[in-house]
Amino acid sequence: MSNRRNFIKTAAAASVAVALNSFGVKSEEEINTVVSKKGKKPIVLSTWNFGIQANEAAWEILKNKGRALDAVEAGVKIPEGDPTERSVGYGGRPDRDGRVTLDSCIMDEQANIGSVGCLENIKHPISVARAVMEKTPHVMLVGDGALQFALSQGFKRENLLTEESEKEWKEWLKDSKYKPIANIENHDTIGMIALDADGNLSGACTTSGMAFKMHGRLGDSPIIGAGLFVDNEIGAATATGHGEEVIRISGCHLVVELMRQGKSPQKACEEAVARIVKLTKNRNKELKDIQVGFIALNKKGEYGSYCIQGGFNYAIHDDTGNRLIDAEFFLK
Ligand code: ASP
Repeated sequence: MSNRRNFIKTAAAASVAVALNSFGVKSEEEINTVVSKKGKKPIVLSTWNFGIQANEAAWEILKNKGRALDAVEAGVKIPEGDPTERSVGYGGRPDRDGRVTLDSCIMDEQANIGSVGCLENIKHPISVARAVMEKTPHVMLVGDGALQFALSQGFKRENLLTEESEKEWKEWLKDSKYKPIANIENHDTIGMIALDADGNLSGACTTSGMAFKMHGRLGDSPIIGAGLFVDNEIGAATATGHGEEVIRISGCHLVVELMRQGKSPQKACEEAVARIVKLTKNRNKELKDIQVGFIALNKKGEYGSYCIQGGFNYAIHDDTGNRLIDAEFFLK
């Protein structure tokens, strides 16, 4: 009897599959160029090479059953405080007026959010973003207001323009040509997403943005839904690359919503990139000049990543260790 029931179930499932296929709908496994990788909690992912060191700091918290929120803040503070990392925090490249302006946001498992944009003279904008989240009735502070708030919270005012960055900026002034280059490190962001031992998700995202941008320019990185999004029922995503393109599609919110529809993290990143590709073509812009990369993690600890062009990588740390993975890409 039970065999017969199983047979009926299997036959019914097969006929559904056939019916779907006759409409040209493929299973997700068939569509995926890469199947999402399986991970298990706790787990942390972050963008680019500097993700390796950042993950180490985050892992210290996660392995001791700490909170994902604390892990992502501690993690991204590593490149923020490192003057040799020239696209994040202290030592980040300045805007065209020679001012280092920083963008950061943070989101926890309860959808608490905090963000700062165009913040100057504070080494750890991610911690200011967290203070906005925890200590103000608002979710976003920018410019001078963000600085005033940071100082009122005891953050130290510091010069973030290193000699190296100043030299480069003076060199840039000779031509004054604004040209963000894909994968050439005149921009980059650390975006970090983590799932802790309790099964809670959080994320953080921080950058000095595009080198030599107009003063006051904000990218995707301080914008919840663009550079970062977390939904504790579903998953989390973060982005790097040309912020204008990520904002155009509300990138990370899109990735999480695609996961809500049942897409794997890998597939969700691929579809978000496909959306940018399509819009770029429709707008008659050159795709080869654009780089955007997404990383995503779902509630089960599965993860994936996709970008427009090769060269983007991300770091992942779970109980099997910390490693860098080259992201799959669209433009072959
Ligand atoms: N997304 C950042 C911005 O547009 C830069 C980057 O990640 O490369 O400011």
